[in-house]
Amino acid sequence: MDIEQLSDKIIAGDRRSLARAITLVESSRADHREQAADLIEALARKSDRQAIRIGLSGTPGVGKSTFIESFGMMLTGQGLKVAVLAVDPSSARSGGSILGDKTRMERLSRDPNAFIRPSPSQSHLGGVARRTREAVALCEAAGFDVVLIETVGVGQSETVVAEMSDLFILLLAPAGGDELQGVKRGIMEMADIILVNKADGDLKPAAMRTCADYAGALRLLRKRPQDPAEFPKAMTVSALEENGLAKAWEEMTTLTDWRRDNGHFTGRRAAQAEYWFGQEVRQGLLARLEREPVKGMMTHLGAQVASGQTTPTAAAAEILALMQQG
Ligand code: GDP
Repeated sequence: MDIEQLSDKIIAGDRRSLARAITLVESSRADHREQAADLIEALARKSDRQAIRIGLSGTPGVGKSTFIESFGMMLTGQGLKVAVLAVDPSSARSGGSILGDKTRMERLSRDPNAFIRPSPSQSHLGGVARRTREAVALCEAAGFDVVLIETVGVGQSETVVAEMSDLFILLLAPAGGDELQGVKRGIMEMADIILVNKADGDLKPAAMRTCADYAGALRLLRKRPQDPAEFPKAMTVSALEENGLAKAWEEMTTLTDWRRDNGHFTGRRAAQAEYWFGQEVRQGLLARLEREPVKGMMTHLGAQVASGQTTPTAAAAEILALMQQG
């Protein structure tokens, strides 16, 4: 594969090359990993295009795909190019919705200014994170203006998405008052904007109540000195009736423009790059535990620790010494 040629085609906006490149970065084969690294490096050298990276999280059923479809169509209607990626932490996708599934965003998937890519099928969140991060870089080089990264509200996946996004949006559905507890504080703290969806028909009053509850909760969180005082904020939208979407986009651009003007946009990306560097090193070390001879030694020493022949500390020191040799 000619990496230079592939990178030129991606920059020229060739869709098939972009799709091929994403398949390449998703592969775990060693030779593919090497080519992927060369490709990412070539693109970084040749292109300094930046998209707005928007992370979007919400539990199944809140309306993520409906929102992405309506919101994405609104953006392409304004002449913007929109890419949709997903971080799906579930290894067994039984029953639940597949994130970034094109059949759930039919209009958007047919739009020539949109590109939708489902989450790579990997059970290991670290692997999905790296592949998605690289896919974001590919989409940026390909000239997309907005990259939406979708995830479900479970476990660590929000952190992964927030750490690769310029803006993190939490999508919620109208709820009874006590369901405020359902959203973990840590996730609320990551959100730049909370969107309460389904603010239409019979659900509208509940949506407005939920929105007011979250607006109150956000006010109690630690202030962010780097952002305008009104952020983070809560708003209502209806993805189905396409209400409030333009306003939501306006708020997103207000916040990103503000951060750009104040250097926080670049600062956040720099901090994220450092975070991922640390994560990669940690993951690399953990991966070595799964390889021989360390793996066999772990089993062997594990049994010795269990039977009292050696202590956990001494056995761990032996493993670490072995890793240093390798
Ligand atoms: P996801 O699992 O988060 O991707 O949610 P979906 O987009 O699949 O939506 C789940 C259900 O909520 C579907 O039946 C949608 O039609 C419905 N839904 C999504 N957005 C809205 C909305 O704005 N208003 C109403 N009333 N229903 C919505």
